[in-house]
Amino acid sequence: MAEFVFAPPDQVAIPVAGGGLFPVRRVYCVGRNYAEHVREMGGDPKTEVPSFFTKPTDALLTGGADLPYPPMTSDLHHEMELVVAIGVGGADIPEGGALGHVWGYAAGLDMTRRDLQQQLRKEGKTWDMGKGFDHSGPIGEVARAARIGHPAKGRIELAVNGEQRQHSDLSHMVWSVPEIIAHLSRFVRLAPGDLIFTGTPEGVGAVQRGDVLEGRVEGVGSVRTRIV
Ligand code: MN
Repeated sequence: MAEFVFAPPDQVAIPVAGGGLFPVRRVYCVGRNYAEHVREMGGDPKTEVPSFFTKPTDALLTGGADLPYPPMTSDLHHEMELVVAIGVGGADIPEGGALGHVWGYAAGLDMTRRDLQQQLRKEGKTWDMGKGFDHSGPIGEVARAARIGHPAKGRIELAVNGEQRQHSDLSHMVWSVPEIIAHLSRFVRLAPGDLIFTGTPEGVGAVQRGDVLEGRVEGVGSVRTRIV
């Protein structure tokens, strides 16, 4: 058997509440999934369909680690989100059976270089580099669905330096978790270890070095990081 020409990277994994590690395969994200956020970004929630994009798996930041302020931006934004952790793979998953594919849930942050994203969008270019940068995905512990169930409602909120910046309810998602799984699995075959960031509510905004971000999803868990 051929040998690796250098040591392969470590498996990216997220601590599970109560013990163990959730091994991460791929990271998908949903754009524009809360009506008020679509409006604050200048869109019309009635005419927009949610889009999918990705982050590199090793962009995840776990254990409350510090987030180094990224290069190529002066407008780093927070986006507080519910994250779905897939445990059973599949393609063309029907909405009715979608929750059977979910292993658990976590609270996460889809950090965004907003200035870069908007500049690239305006130029009609792909805005990957506004989203998929190093350390762009702080995430809290994964909570097993077998323990917490499948939250379809509950408060989602983010505070910066103790001051509330985002708050909404999971029930305000335009597309529900089963709808997201059904739709995404038409584009790609989902596999165990895949994560789906499900979109942010309104109230996104900029952070600076020294800021402490603390987010929480009711019944799921929390996420914390400090910008350095
Ligand atoms: Mn987002």
